[in-house]
Amino acid sequence: AKGQGKNNYQFYVHEDESILSRKIKLERGLKRALVNKELELHYQPKVVLNSGDIYGVEALLRWNHPELGRIPPTEFIPIAEEIGMIIPIGKWVLEEACIQNKIWQDLGIKIMMNVNISSIQFEDSHFVDKVKIALAASQMPPKYLGLEITESVMQNINRTYAILEELKAVGVKVAIDDFGTGYSSLSVLNNLPIDLVKIDKSFVNEILTNSNTASLVKTMVQMGENIDFDLVAEGIEEQEQVAFLVGNGCKFGQGYFFSPPLPVSEVESLLIGKVEK
Ligand code: C2E
Ligand code: CA
Ligand code: CA
Repeated sequence: AKGQGKNNYQFYVHEDESILSRKIKLERGLKRALVNKELELHYQPKVVLNSGDIYGVEALLRWNHPELGRIPPTEFIPIAEEIGMIIPIGKWVLEEACIQNKIWQDLGIKIMMNVNISSIQFEDSHFVDKVKIALAASQMPPKYLGLEITESVMQNINRTYAILEELKAVGVKVAIDDFGTGYSSLSVLNNLPIDLVKIDKSFVNEILTNSNTASLVKTMVQMGENIDFDLVAEGIEEQEQVAFLVGNGCKFGQGYFFSPPLPVSEVESLLIGKVEK
């Protein structure tokens, strides 16, 4: 038994080392990912639930590590935040998404472009300027840009309010992402200039099987109607979820049921198909 314990101990040491060395590799890799052009945006269609019409896309970051392959954003975004690289990377995402939207605008594809904003970016004192620069450089019309921020920015509510007002003046839309997974309550939204709330996929995942979740989602939609913001349900994978959401007044959604995030060329053929119809 003693020998086994020793083996286990060595096993865990080994394990920790490999986790650590992967993290170090990712940290180093992130510092050169932009210059080496290893980052790419994929786009997931956002649809009107009762017709399936695409009215926008969400830009989702992809990283192709030369040695370790495709790294999921849930793994590398927190590391990028930790080492501060989320600032230049986030700036690139914003600029790239705006340029792509402008290309589509010029092809007659007038759709919303939603971009995820880390709370570290949002708290950067030059954030609003960077949004303005991305819009000016691309010539993209501001009303088509949507910024997805998370509830964590609610911690400094006064500052958040001021930034949201500035963004409103620029003419972009703001969405609260992952709503319901953090600590803020629905009433907080009442006092903020928010255009949109995204119902997190962890809720959508349960609407057919958990009656508490189902009534929570109903309440969110009702609240949205009362204080005038739209709701977008994310992570929709089944027809029955669509039916539930439409039946309860949720107008917009996205998820694998409609389309996964796709590279530019693939999403573009979907969008062109829509425009020609
Ligand atoms: P998120 O903003 O909540 O994005 C939704 C995630 O759900 C995406 O994962 C998307 O691919 C996935 N998804 C979409 N439809 C379905 C579905 O029907 N079922 C399931 N199970 N999943 C679905 P992804 O692309 O891996 O991104 C994960 C997270 O990484 C994002 O969550 C967001 O928080 C972050 N992220 C991605 N791109 C960026 C970025 O450019 N900047 C920042 N700051 N964060 C980003
Ligand atoms: Ca998002
Ligand atoms: Ca989410």
